[in-house]
Amino acid sequence: MRKINPQGRAQMSQKQATVIHWFRKGLRLHDNPALIAAVEKLDTLPSAHLRPIFILDTKLVETYRVGANRWRFLVDSLADLDKSLRSLGTRLYVLRGDPVSQFKFALKNWNVKLITYETDTEPYARKRDVEVFKLAEEAGVEVKYFFSHTLYEPIVLLRQNKSEAPKTYQKFLDVVSKAGEPPASKVAVTEVYKQSPPKDPDKDKYQLPTLRELHVDESKLGPHLYPGGETEALRRLTQVMTRKTYISNFEKPNTSPNSIEPSTTVLSPDPNLLICKQIDWDVNPEYLSAWAEGRTGYPFIDAIMTQLRKEGWIHHLARHAVACFLTRGDLWISWEEGQLVFEELLLDADVYLNAGNWMWLSASAFFHQYYRVYSPIVFGKKTDPHGEYIRKYLPKLAKYPPNYIYEPWTAPMSVQKAAGCIIGTDYPKPIVDHAKIHKVNLQRMNAAYKKVPSPPKKNTPKFTRASREDDDDSSVPFAKKFRSEFC
Ligand SMILES: Cc1cc2nc3c(=O)[nH]c(=O)nc-3n(C[C@H](O)[C@H](O)[C@H](O)COP(=O)(O)OP(=O)(O)OC[C@H]3O[C@@H](n4cnc5c(N)ncnc54)[C@H](O)[C@@H]3O)c2cc1C
Repeated sequence: MRKINPQGRAQMSQKQATVIHWFRKGLRLHDNPALIAAVEKLDTLPSAHLRPIFILDTKLVETYRVGANRWRFLVDSLADLDKSLRSLGTRLYVLRGDPVSQFKFALKNWNVKLITYETDTEPYARKRDVEVFKLAEEAGVEVKYFFSHTLYEPIVLLRQNKSEAPKTYQKFLDVVSKAGEPPASKVAVTEVYKQSPPKDPDKDKYQLPTLRELHVDESKLGPHLYPGGETEALRRLTQVMTRKTYISNFEKPNTSPNSIEPSTTVLSPDPNLLICKQIDWDVNPEYLSAWAEGRTGYPFIDAIMTQLRKEGWIHHLARHAVACFLTRGDLWISWEEGQLVFEELLLDADVYLNAGNWMWLSASAFFHQYYRVYSPIVFGKKTDPHGEYIRKYLPKLAKYPPNYIYEPWTAPMSVQKAAGCIIGTDYPKPIVDHAKIHKVNLQRMNAAYKKVPSPPKKNTPKFTRASREDDDDSSVPFAKKFRSEFC
C-alpha cells in the first residue's frame, strides 16, 4: 500500500511509478516533444516521479573524438539544463556507464512506466536505441520517441526521393521543397508537477559531471567564448533576431570568415551516409599534422586552425578555406582525415553535418565544381585586407605590413627582421606552393571525375538566391570558370 502524504502525493519509494525522459542531444526545455510527452504522462499517473536523465556514455567516448572545449561545452549545457529543471521542481539525473546497463538498472529499480527520447539517426545512436527499446519491450515498458533534432524526419525526405539519398544540393532542395512545411515548433515545458513534487530519494546521487571527472586537461581549454546551454543559446538567438537588417539581407557567402567577432550567429553547437566519389587521396601524416596544428606556412589557413583549436568555433567560409586546402586544393589528403580533426575540435561537431560538409568541400559529393579552388592568400584578403584576424591568432606575424601578411615569405629579409619574425625560423615556410600544386591537383581531380561519372542532372529547379558555390555554370568553358577568391 502506498502512503499518501498530506498534499495527497505518494511518498517516494523505490517502487513509486517513474517516467523517464532521456536527454541526449536536445539538452533543452524548448521545442522538446519527447519531454512534453513525459510530462503529459504524469497526468495519468498522478503520484509518479519524473526522472529526466542524461547518461554519461562511456562507450560513446570510445567511438567519438572529443576535445577539451567540447567537454566544457557539455558540462555547461548539463548544468544549465539541471538549473532549468530544478526551477520546475525536478532536476537532471546524470547516470554513468553504458546506456544498456544503465537502463537494465533503471528498469529493475525504478518501476518505470514510460521512457521518452528524441530520435538520433547517427549509426552508434541507432544501434544503442534499438537495444534499449528491446529491453523496455521485454520489461513491458512503453517507449515514445520523437523527431526534433532536424526540421524534417529524414525518412520523410527519403520517401520524397524514391528512398534514395539526394546526391546533389539542388536535388536536396528539390526534395525539401516537395516535403512541405516542417512541423511547427513546440512551446517550452514550464510546469512538471501539478502538485508539490515528490521527494527525491536520490538527491545526493547522479550529480552533474565536472571537468575534473572527465579528465579534461585544463591547459588545453581555450577562452570561454561560447558557454554551452539552452539559456545562452536563447540569448544568442534573441540577440540575432533583433538585427532585422542582418536577417533580411543574410547571404552566407557575403559574411566574413575572418572577422574578429563572429559574423554569423554561432548557434550551431546548440542542434553512411552517401555515395561519395572515390578519389586517390594521398596519405601524408606530416602534411596532415602541419594542417591540424596550424603550421602550413599560409597564415590565413594557420590562423583559422589556431582559432578552431583554441576556441572551438570557426566561420563557415573559414571551414571552406581549410577544408579545400587540406583536400583538393593543396595537400590532397582525404576529407575523412579533416572530418576527424573537426570532430575533436568543433563545439558544434555533428557526424552528418561534418561529413556532409567535408564531402561537399572536397567535391566528393553534392558539390562538383572542383575547379573552384579557394586561394589561401586571396580569399581572406577580400574581407580582411589588413590581416587583423591573422595578427590576432598568429601574434608572431603581428608586425608584418598588410601587403605581406598573407604571404610573409615574399617579404624582403629587412622587412622580416623589422617584424621580428624570420620565415623558415620563427614561422614556417609554405609547405606547398599553392600556385603550382592546385593546378596539379585540378588535373588529378579531373582524372578522378573521369573515372566515376557525376550523377545525371535532370529537372533540377533554379533558385534565385543560390549561393555562389552552388551556381550551375556547366556551360562556361573550363578555363573561364575561376573567380577572384578562387585559385
Ligand atoms: C568542412 C565543414 C564542416 C562542418 N561541420 C559542421 C558540424 O560538424 N556541425 C555543424 O553544425 N555545422 C558544420 N558545418 C556547417 C557550418 O559551417 C556551421 O553550421 C556554421 O558555420 C555554424 O556557425 P553559425 O551558428 O554562426 O551559423 P549561421 O550562419 O548563424 O547559421 C545558423 C544555423 O544554421 C545551421 N547551418 C548553417 N550553415 C550550415 C551548413 N552549411 N550545414 C548545416 N547547417 C548549417 C547551423 O545550425 C547554424 O547554427 C561545417 C561546414 C564545413 C564547411
